[in-house]
Amino acid sequence: MIYLDNNATTPCDPRVVDAMLPYFYEQPGNAASRNHAPGWLAEDAVKEARAQVARLIGADPREVIFTSGATESDNLAIKGILQQYRRKGSHIITLQTEHKAVLDACAEAEKLGAEVTYLSVDHRGMVNLQELDEAIRPDTILVSVMWGNNETGVLQPMPKIGAICEKHGTLLMSDATQVVGKLPCNPREAGVHLMAFTAHKMYGPKGVGALYLSQRQPKVSVAAQLHGGGHEQGLRSGTLNVPGIVGFGKAAALAAAEMETEAARLKKLRDTLERELLGIEATTLNGHPEHRLPHVSNIAFQGIESETVMMAFGQELALSSGSACTSASVEPSHVLTAMGLKAAAAHSSLRFSLGRFTKAEDVEQAVVLVRDGVEKMRAASPAWSLYQKGSLA
Ligand SMILES: *Cc1c(COP(=O)(O)O)cnc(C)c1O
Repeated sequence: MIYLDNNATTPCDPRVVDAMLPYFYEQPGNAASRNHAPGWLAEDAVKEARAQVARLIGADPREVIFTSGATESDNLAIKGILQQYRRKGSHIITLQTEHKAVLDACAEAEKLGAEVTYLSVDHRGMVNLQELDEAIRPDTILVSVMWGNNETGVLQPMPKIGAICEKHGTLLMSDATQVVGKLPCNPREAGVHLMAFTAHKMYGPKGVGALYLSQRQPKVSVAAQLHGGGHEQGLRSGTLNVPGIVGFGKAAALAAAEMETEAARLKKLRDTLERELLGIEATTLNGHPEHRLPHVSNIAFQGIESETVMMAFGQELALSSGSACTSASVEPSHVLTAMGLKAAAAHSSLRFSLGRFTKAEDVEQAVVLVRDGVEKMRAASPAWSLYQKGSLA
């Protein structure tokens, strides 16, 4: 099985698993138990993990709030800011290409009385900085821009966005789930005040994430969304997931040590993959060719139905498509359509996301499989024969 779906989730690094194991049985303590050794040991382990996660993003450990994942962090940030800063206003700005965790939290904020502006992006997926600048109003309490897009890998110019928000005195939040651990990602340097990320996109376990919350210049507070016990500075109650947090810390330490060489290795592999696939007739790259995560490639193959092609090699090759399955129907990706792709082009797109365990042979085999799959599907496609007639005419 060739796994090129690392943006959906990454395998947990065996070194991370090893670090976690003692905290399931031998070290059973609750980090909030203050009166015995197992509790102290768990508290120490969480303290170390918090320092490791903070170090990866250049933050102070007090600025790291552990959550159950990026979805919870996005919700805590958006709803928490709305409740906390209501006196200033209730206007929020975000992008049409955000992750559903941000878009759905914004939709919920609208139900709670917020007004949300959804900025468009250009055909390469980039935000227009002037539009952003003009959209900020005195009652804007939050700008939320994802650092790197999960579907296309497109990177937004966060330091420039940070400077614009700074000029207006507006808080900036970023869903940096796809960037943390892959590229240097320092919220303070970029002017980002809240930042969501998660362990399972960086070779850690599922079900644990974090919200970075700036604690100086400015000190940001959010209204808690979960109550009961006052854990995590009262911002996120609930017994800490000690094994998960230990794994997150280990994953952060490994990423910090290996990120630079790994990003270069993956970029080479990705570029090879991309060159080969774009060599197939009637293919286009979705997303900005340069401002992009080094391990992601999203390509439209005219005349194919990506869901069907993917199913055909579901046993050998794991990818994602430019479609999103809702309960009722298969919708074209909101990210690709926001970039101006027609529904058919979105439905013919495939996302390749490489990772730490991807080898050069995997990429070679993936190229062969995809080339075959695309050829077979095109041979059977009326839309493709129409296209070919058109290009001959
Ligand atoms: C995966 C992902 C999420 C959701 O993270 P969970 O930890 O699974 O809740 C949010 N945002 C982005 C950009 C993601 O890629």
